[in-house]
Order: sequence, then C-alpha cells, then structure tokens
Amino acid sequence: MRSNPADYQLVAPPRLHDAVSLLASEPGAWLPIAGGTDLMVQYAAGKLPARKLVSIWNLPELRRIEVLPAEICIGSGCTYTDLREHDVLGREFSLLGRAASWTGGIANQNRGTLGGNIANASPAADSLPALLVYEAELILVSVRGERRLPYVGFHTGYKKMKLAPDELIRAVCLPRRFSEYLAYARKVGARNAQAISKVCLAGLGRIRSGVIEDVRIAVGSVAPVPLRLVETERVLSGKPITPALLALAKRIAAAEIRPIDDIRSTSGYRAAVTGNLVAEFLGKLGAGAPEKTP
Ligand SMILES: Cc1cc2nc3c(=O)[nH]c(=O)nc-3n(C[C@H](O)[C@H](O)[C@H](O)COP(=O)(O)OP(=O)(O)OC[C@H]3O[C@@H](n4cnc5c(N)ncnc54)[C@H](O)[C@@H]3O)c2cc1C
Repeated sequence: MRSNPADYQLVAPPRLHDAVSLLASEPGAWLPIAGGTDLMVQYAAGKLPARKLVSIWNLPELRRIEVLPAEICIGSGCTYTDLREHDVLGREFSLLGRAASWTGGIANQNRGTLGGNIANASPAADSLPALLVYEAELILVSVRGERRLPYVGFHTGYKKMKLAPDELIRAVCLPRRFSEYLAYARKVGARNAQAISKVCLAGLGRIRSGVIEDVRIAVGSVAPVPLRLVETERVLSGKPITPALLALAKRIAAAEIRPIDDIRSTSGYRAAVTGNLVAEFLGKLGAGAPEKTP
C-alpha cells in the first residue's frame, strides 16, 4: 500500500550545520534523505518507518569535489553523474566512474548519491568495492565535530555501520596514488543497467619485474558486507602470473567469500563467477591491458 504524505514531515535546511543540529536535537528521530532513490522506493511501497525526514539534497557543503595534492575528497552528496563527469576522478579513479555508469539508469545517476550508496549499506552496492581497493576514508560530521575513519570496517554487518544517529557522512577521501595501476571492474547482473548485481568486482594491480608487486581485489554481493579479498591478494603478491596461479586464485577467491542464495542468484553461481572474474582480472593484468574508462 502506498504511503500517505500527510503522515510524513520533511524539512530542507539550507546549510549543513542546520541539518546536523536537527539530527542532534532528537537523535534517531530524523532520517536524512539525499537523492531519495533508495528511500522513495520504501516510501512508495508504504514501508518507510521514519516519519521525520531531513533533506540533505544539494547542500553545498556536500556537493564539492576537492582535489588536493595527496587525495581527492568527494562530497557525500555528489551524484553518480557528478562522479562520471569529473576529470580527475575519470583519470585517476576510473573504477568509481565505471561503477557510477552502471548504477541504475540516467535518471537514477542524476539523483543517487555516493553517500546514499554507502549509508544504504546494501551488500550489492556497486560503488563500494571501488572504495575498498582505493582505501577510501570517510569524514563523518555532527554537531560534535568531524571524525575520519577508514571505509574498510565501516560496514560491520548486514545494514550495520559505524554511523551514530546524529552523524552524516560528509565526504569520501581517496589517496591519489593509484593512477599507474591497471584497473578492472565488472558487474554481473541480469543486465548492466537497472539491475542489482549478482556479483560486482573491483581490482587494481601493478606488475614489476614480471611479478605482481601489488594487487587489490574487492567484491560485492557475496557476503553481508562488501569484501576485500585479503587472502587471495596475499597469495598473489610477488608471483608471476601463470595458468597455475590463475587456477589457484580462482579457488582461493571462491573460498574467501560468503555468498548466499537469494532471489537474484545462488551461492554456487556467485562463487564460480567471483573466481572467474578474479582470473579475468589477472589475465588482463598479466597482458598489461588497460581498462577503458566509461
Ligand atoms: C531504479 C533504481 C536502480 C538502482 N540501481 C542501482 C544499482 O545498479 N547499483 C546500486 O548500487 N544501487 C542502485 N540503486 C540504489 C540507489 O540508487 C543507490 O543506493 C543510491 O546511491 C542511493 O543514494 P540516494 O542519495 O538516493 O540515497 P537516499 O535514498 O536519499 O538514502 C539512502 C540511505 O542513506 C542515508 N543517507 C543518504 N545520504 C547520507 C549521508 N550523507 N550521511 C548519512 N546517511 C545518508 C539515508 O538516510 C538512507 O538511509 C538503484 C535504485 C533505483 C531506484
């Protein structure tokens, strides 16, 4: 059954400070709404329990992308379209642009935000594996001030995260040291657009003197939270890419994830696909094939 608008209160403060003050005034009572692409689905289905919504859409403090010498800080209110159109992000963080390009359709990309994708905390969220391999850090803000923490470990379980009820994600910061890496990203779903991932994978790697000097692999939709495949990475590091290593990597990657059967796929399919994507990534890394940016 559809929701009745009369049951809801929506406030749209002009500045970030007003929004966090409202959150602090009654912790847990006010729910932030950014692009609304997740929340409005719940609302339309009559399943949005929060009755007080504070709009953070288009707050100027959340819409900036700051390019600093050592890092780039993306405001949590930046949309997928903002990410796709940004020059430095496109050049140095192509995995994020690729994830943005296959998140829903164009309308969704004009409205859905990076902060919303993180806070919605779906294990299948497409941008999160990229944040893991780029070693993103999050800046959280409240009336108490700001704190900065690594994205890895932010999601602690299915739909659980280290975000207090009076906090907002203000920005996502990525260190600018991966531009020389080969980047690989794949989404496997019923189709690329308008489909939730059965498996999504982001990889970064660098070969030096014929061996894997550094490799980073993260996967979504295969566990309660997006996972970095640390054991697979450990086994690969320092080795030349050979058919035997590809076979080993497929096995270890498939064993490292914790997939479930659900309406979109089965655990067996997800394990097989994860292994195959890891092998495909390593094949490209070995061949030195650059990934196309979106
Ligand atoms: C048709 C359609 C297709 C989609 N396809 C995909 C897809 O392919 N891949 C994918 O990953 N997702 C997909 N989504 C989901 C959605 O678009 C994304 O998760 C999007 O990034 C959510 O951002 P938003 O700003 O719209 O979030 P909202 O709906 O506004 O909020 C989502 C949650 O995040 C919280 N929140 C938002 N911003 C902040 C912040 N700055 N700080 C703290 N909490 C915050 C809200 O309180 C809420 O709990 C799709 C959705 C639709 C409707």
